[in-house]
Amino acid sequence: MTERYADVIIDIAHEKVDKVFQYRIPQELAQAVYPGVQVLVPFGRGNRQKAGYVVELSEETDYPPEKIKEIFAVDEKGMSVEGRQIQTAYWLKSQYGSTTIAALKTVLPVRQKQKPLEKRTVLRLLSAAETAQAAITCSEKHQKAKARVLHALENEEELPYELVRQKLHVAAATMQALERQGYLRIESKAFYRNPVRMTDRGEKRPTLNPAQQRVIDGVMGAYRSGSPGVHLVHGVTGSGKTEVYLGIIEQMIAMGKQAIMLIPEIALTYQTLLRFYKRFGDRVSVMNSTLSAGEKYDQIERAKAGEIDVIIGPRSALFTPFPNLGVIVMDEEHENSYKSETSPRYHARETAVYIASLCGASVVLGSATPSLEAYYRAGQGQYQLYEMKERPGNSVLPAVYITDLRKELKEGNRSMFGRKLHSLMEERLSRGEQTILFLNRRGYAGFVSCRACGHVMKCPHCDVSLSEHKNGLLICHYCGYQERKPEKCPVCASPYLLGFKAGTQQVEEAIYREFPQARVLRMDGDTTRKKESYEKILSAFADEEADILVGTQMIVKGHDFPGVTLVGVLAADLSLNRNDYRAGERTFQLLTQAAGRAGRGERPGEVVIQTYQPEHYSVVYAARQDYEGFYREELAYRALVGYPPVEHMLAVLIVSRVQEDGEKLGQQMAELIMAEMGEISGFRVIGPAQASIGKISDLYRHTLYLRHREYQVLVRAKDRWERFCREHEQRDQTVQFDFDPMNTY
Ligand code: ADP
Ligand code: ZN
Ligand code: ZN
Repeated sequence: MTERYADVIIDIAHEKVDKVFQYRIPQELAQAVYPGVQVLVPFGRGNRQKAGYVVELSEETDYPPEKIKEIFAVDEKGMSVEGRQIQTAYWLKSQYGSTTIAALKTVLPVRQKQKPLEKRTVLRLLSAAETAQAAITCSEKHQKAKARVLHALENEEELPYELVRQKLHVAAATMQALERQGYLRIESKAFYRNPVRMTDRGEKRPTLNPAQQRVIDGVMGAYRSGSPGVHLVHGVTGSGKTEVYLGIIEQMIAMGKQAIMLIPEIALTYQTLLRFYKRFGDRVSVMNSTLSAGEKYDQIERAKAGEIDVIIGPRSALFTPFPNLGVIVMDEEHENSYKSETSPRYHARETAVYIASLCGASVVLGSATPSLEAYYRAGQGQYQLYEMKERPGNSVLPAVYITDLRKELKEGNRSMFGRKLHSLMEERLSRGEQTILFLNRRGYAGFVSCRACGHVMKCPHCDVSLSEHKNGLLICHYCGYQERKPEKCPVCASPYLLGFKAGTQQVEEAIYREFPQARVLRMDGDTTRKKESYEKILSAFADEEADILVGTQMIVKGHDFPGVTLVGVLAADLSLNRNDYRAGERTFQLLTQAAGRAGRGERPGEVVIQTYQPEHYSVVYAARQDYEGFYREELAYRALVGYPPVEHMLAVLIVSRVQEDGEKLGQQMAELIMAEMGEISGFRVIGPAQASIGKISDLYRHTLYLRHREYQVLVRAKDRWERFCREHEQRDQTVQFDFDPMNTY
């Protein structure tokens, strides 16, 4: 009989959760001990009895076996909230690959002593009518930030200070000035006892339309019948999804349950937050990246103690330990920020489904452009699908034009702006309306394409764009394939086979050249190093201090600028030709979102998409706002080449101090894993190859990609690799795992 051991942590609220003690599992408890279970163990010299949690099981021990103590007993009370958190950490570790400590730190909050929090509230001092008048006066004096605050206070007697500062983009000095002028008072209260209190909770509630009612009834009906399940709401922007979330959460609260509302931070607007505050008052709490570790800990304690019912926040809010979780809602389900960029590289969607299954909770996913994963699973019957195609009220979708840049070139236009975009920009300038110009450079990896025919140089094996390197080689970062950059386009023999060089700064210069009268703001990685400058640029644009905002993808999300009636996508090619298999999906989402930026106010909007590949399906379907059409075509491509969601993919990143070591380890593991698992039908190992960034701060990076239909086959390969690493201590090398990666390494 092999001995079995359990790793136990005694104090999970400790600042360092990495104190793990090993105990022997007695025969009679073999079945009852598993990760998450609370056990009683002898502790310290006197063997005092202490309670602890099992975090891991093993058949090996690092200590002399005779020195290991035995577990006394298993706590009979059943799985506690903390136990579930530890179970979740164990699941993260086994599904995504990481150390036990990293997984525990992901799930458990860091305890930190701190002063009691202060929550500030803005109180209106004048009547609604007087405040409205003051807002007009400020507008006339071009004090736009002040006008925004006063406008907001017209409807509310009281607003959370942070909401005003952050979501209305108002400086602290402006708030103080308004206070001095006697329009408002800023009041501090102890947060813990008295958080947000909206005086007027009587909101005007819209009558739900049939599509909205169907979703709420579907979700709640399934929940009440004991099969909570996963629900996907596919609804165009403005179709009333948030209203649906509010309705579901409200019914859950009425049943004594709690709710986790996940929203990508960047998409959490003033209006949305206000709706939650109004509906749930001080029972809602917001988590965001500006909170300190101590503040986060505080919120989590409040959740555990039953003082709040709803938490709104990004990915990490998923781990809020509610005692009676009823639903996890995930808005903008397709967003990249739902995937963790550090180990364990978990996806919030899958993790939400797991946590919900532990708690018997429902999961509601919502998006205007669902991820291929989610829509695919809905198609297979794993998720319940709901469609919401109409916007309540009569707001219209913008008109979308596609400009063929090949034709512009042929007809002698060498400017960055096609003729359509140029004339619409001119029109906006003369009418005093605003324009957003968008140049996506994120993840841009030096693809090469033909300016005459649009042909893109791609890997013949992986069907992704090749990246140009300084030595004139074109390289595939999945499989390592390389070729020399040809002199002429292989399709049309044009000599204009080039890399893409334009950046936002060049765009800014071009605007000044072609529209000397325009006032321009630029927002990209360079101009927004500092957090506050990001806010500054956005508020300046919201104040209409500029006519044109130029920026990278960070400007297409979430912000509502009612003055914007034109959005230009300067080169859709930049995201179409990223060197990874999600390029088409990313482009479709970006174009759809960018289109959603235009015409948020009363005036209708127009959108121009410029590209060398106007016939590309991502462009064509985005312009038509046809999600299903896009999905069908994209899925056919994924199925053909064997990419997620049809197959699963595991990226292994090897980081080494010596270049040859990383290459050798990759080769060795590729052979070992093929030798042991090569029999499994459809199992593939691709690479090793040099990563797309081959070297970062003197460390070399190599990748290996593993693919198979079954996720668990890849988990087995990961486990095998981890065992190898335990048995052969690696010096100066680390290995990281990324399942169904969002980016190319
Ligand atoms: P989404 O989350 O899909 O973008 P929202 O829930 O924010 O949509 O709704 C968009 C706008 O329509 C909001 O101003 C909201 O108050 C309003 N709205 C939502 N549902 C209805 C309805 N049934 N009747 C009238 N207006 C509605
Ligand atoms: Zn060509
Ligand atoms: Zn390849």
